[in-house]
Amino acid sequence: MTALSIVVPCFNEEACLELLHARLTGAAREAMGDDYEIVLINDGSRDGSWPIMRRLALGDPHLVCLDLSRNHGHQLALTAGLDLARGELILIVDADLQDPPELLGPMLQTMRAEGADVVYGVRRSRSGETQFKKATAHAFYRLLASATEIDLPVDAGDFRLMTRRALNVLLAMPEQARFIRGMVAWIGFRQVPFLYDRADRAAGISKYPLRKMLRFALDALTGFSSAPLKLASHFGLLLSLGSLLIILYILYAFVSGQSIQGWTSLMLVMVVLGAVQMFVLAMMGEYIGRLYSQAKQRPLYIVQEIAGGSGERRGRLGQVAEATANNDSPGGSGTLPIR
Ligand code: UDP
Ligand code: MG
Repeated sequence: MTALSIVVPCFNEEACLELLHARLTGAAREAMGDDYEIVLINDGSRDGSWPIMRRLALGDPHLVCLDLSRNHGHQLALTAGLDLARGELILIVDADLQDPPELLGPMLQTMRAEGADVVYGVRRSRSGETQFKKATAHAFYRLLASATEIDLPVDAGDFRLMTRRALNVLLAMPEQARFIRGMVAWIGFRQVPFLYDRADRAAGISKYPLRKMLRFALDALTGFSSAPLKLASHFGLLLSLGSLLIILYILYAFVSGQSIQGWTSLMLVMVVLGAVQMFVLAMMGEYIGRLYSQAKQRPLYIVQEIAGGSGERRGRLGQVAEATANNDSPGGSGTLPIR
C-alpha cells in the first residue's frame, strides 16, 4: 500500500506532461514525503504522449503509466487509473493543470479536520475558458442537480481527494456509461466542498469538443435521473389541453357559420406533434442504447501496455491485452480474466 495515489487521465497532452510530472511530484513530496505514486493514463493519444510517459517512468520509480488500446474517453480512462491505484488516499486531477496540484496540502487538512471521505473541488472561477463553455457548464450543472434524486454538487469537476473506502465503493459500480463525479456523490459518507479558482490550461487546447460534451451530459442525465422518460406524459397532458381548445374553437366556428382556413393551422399542428414525438423517442433511445451497451457486458477498457510499477499491479486491472513484442516494461505480460 502507498499513502497517496495521484491519478491523471491524459489525451493528446504531450505539451503538458513534463510540467505535470514536475508539479505533481513537488506537491506529493511536500504533503506525503516519499510515500506516493503517480498514475498517468494515456487514453489513446495520437501525439507523442506515450513515448514521453515511458521516458518519464524510466526515470521515476514513483510513476506508473498505462497505455489504453484506443481512446476510451475521459471517464473510462480515469476508471482504468483508479483501478490501478494502490493509495490509501486518492487524488484525481486533470492533465492540463487546471486543477492546481499544490492544493493537495490544504485539501488533506480539510479532510482531516472534517473527518471526510471525499473532499471535492468546487470552481469558484474558471479562467481561460470560453463564454460558451462557462454558460453551458453553468446551466448543465443546475439542470442536472434539479433533475436528479441525489445531492449532486454544482460546479464540481473530477478534481477531488478521496479515501480508499470511498474508492472501493466507486470501483464496485459496474456501469459502462460513467459519470464519475455523480457516482461519487451517490456513494454518500461525509463529502465536503473545497472552493478553488480554476487556472488556465497549461498548454494545448481543450480535449472536450461539443460532441464529447454532449455525450458526457447525456451520460450524466440518463445515469442519474429518469425524469426525461416522464417527458412523454407531460407533453401528452399539454397537447390534450391544446386539443381541447382547438375543438372548442372548431365548434364555435361551425355554429357561427364561419368557414375555417386549413393549411396553416394543420401544418402547425403537424409540425409540433412530429417534433414532440421525435424528441420523446430520442430520449427513450438514449436510455435504450445505454441498456444495450450495459447488457453486452464488455470490459470497460483495454490496456495495451504498462510502463513502470510492479507486475503485481496488473491483477488490479479490468483487462490487459497480450503484451506486444517490443513491450519492455518491467511489469511482465499476460492476459487477465475480465473482472
Ligand atoms: N481526456 C481524456 N480522454 C478524452 C478527453 C479528455 O483522458 O477523450 C482528459 C484530458 O487529457 C484532461 C481531462 O480529460 O486531462 C479533461 O479534459 P480537458 O482539460 O480537455 O477538458 P476541459 O477542462 O476543457 O473541460
Ligand atoms: Mg481542462
